[in-house]
Amino acid sequence: MSAVKMAANCIFCRIIKGEIPSMKLYDSDKTFAFLDINPLSKGHALVIPKYHGAKLTDIPDEHLTELLPVASRIAKASGAENFNILQNNGRIAHQVVDHVHVHMIPKPNEQEGLGVGWPQQQGNKDELAKLHEEMKSKM
Ligand code: 5GP
Ligand code: ZN
Repeated sequence: MSAVKMAANCIFCRIIKGEIPSMKLYDSDKTFAFLDINPLSKGHALVIPKYHGAKLTDIPDEHLTELLPVASRIAKASGAENFNILQNNGRIAHQVVDHVHVHMIPKPNEQEGLGVGWPQQQGNKDELAKLHEEMKSKM
């Protein structure tokens, strides 16, 4: 596994190093998890790779492998029956902290937790088929 990478001025790297306190839930050689300081609902937590990178695509695969299993463990520990797993990449996608993080957000009722906009558009079969070929060729 490639070594972890830290950024001195990153708030989440500083949390991993213990320079900024957090309510820690999980800590392994490559993954860290803690309660969100301004929760959308009770139990809202963040799971982060110890390898610093802003977007999911900046993190080597081997540093991503624990993120969902740990999010699942936290979801179970929270007791949430309904919850959302969210991972924002980029400002217009609502990312504020530029260190990859997976949110586990309990959804106890309509008011609390994540509100989701879902601006679906009618799919065009020909355009979808063209896009499918294009993306498949790059996988
Ligand atoms: P984003 O919008 O980038 O996906 O979410 C960033 C999350 O990090 C927010 O939910 C915010 O409350 C949380 N956060 C930001 N700074 C801190 C901090 O210093 N400690 C903790 N525990 N959470 C933080
Ligand atoms: Zn960082």
